[in-house]
Amino acid sequence: KKITIAIDGFSSTGKSTVARRLAKELEYIYVDTGAMYRAVTLYMMRKLFVSDGNFDKEAIVRHLPFISLHFEFDEELGYGHMFLNNENVEKEIRYMEVSQHVSKVSAVPEVRKMLVKQQQEMGKNRGVVMDGRDIGTVVFPDAELKLFMTASTEKRAQRRYDELKGRGDEVNFEQVLQNVKDRDYMDSTRDDSPLVMADDAIEFDNSEMGLDEQFDKIVKITKD
Ligand code: C5P
Repeated sequence: KKITIAIDGFSSTGKSTVARRLAKELEYIYVDTGAMYRAVTLYMMRKLFVSDGNFDKEAIVRHLPFISLHFEFDEELGYGHMFLNNENVEKEIRYMEVSQHVSKVSAVPEVRKMLVKQQQEMGKNRGVVMDGRDIGTVVFPDAELKLFMTASTEKRAQRRYDELKGRGDEVNFEQVLQNVKDRDYMDSTRDDSPLVMADDAIEFDNSEMGLDEQFDKIVKITKD
């Protein structure tokens, strides 16, 4: 039996770690929807429609048809890399500058409409684990299993900081913490699809110990 698994939550709650592990265990595909919003944002930044002092919503909407996105599975990493118009942008979309603009771009209804449609297509008729903000509420309201990840703000910022640092990026903790807070705020107050927990979602606290135990329980649920 192939089911749809929706994993939502704030940034850096460990959604993708859990999602990837689940997908691997179940031999399902994994879709990182945050990567798609990041790729669209990167495109708009390169065109200079989005920068610190500029946000040209009309130009953004006008250019959406020129964006093509796909994932390519990397055997070694065990997950898909994000491709923007056939260019591998997996590394670039994680840069701090992209993180700083992504919530604004994600708030444009036309952007959401386009990506939600593509995500629904990707998850059609096969086992899929999808992570994001609105998967259990908007993209797949009928998902058989919905998880909602939570963890403290400081813990999440620390995690993101370690991740960026580990890749050799120049970052400071205060800046990362502020970005996590800003995105939490923007992601949860968005008009079109604010981040909320679906009624039938299971809350999954990732800052707690015993992650393996919780994870085993979830795999058991999906295999029943
Ligand atoms: O998951 P990640 O932190 O990479 O997502 C980056 C941003 O993309 C989020 O802060 C949010 O603004 C946006 N996003 C969204 N809807 C999703 C996934 C991500 O609006 N389903």
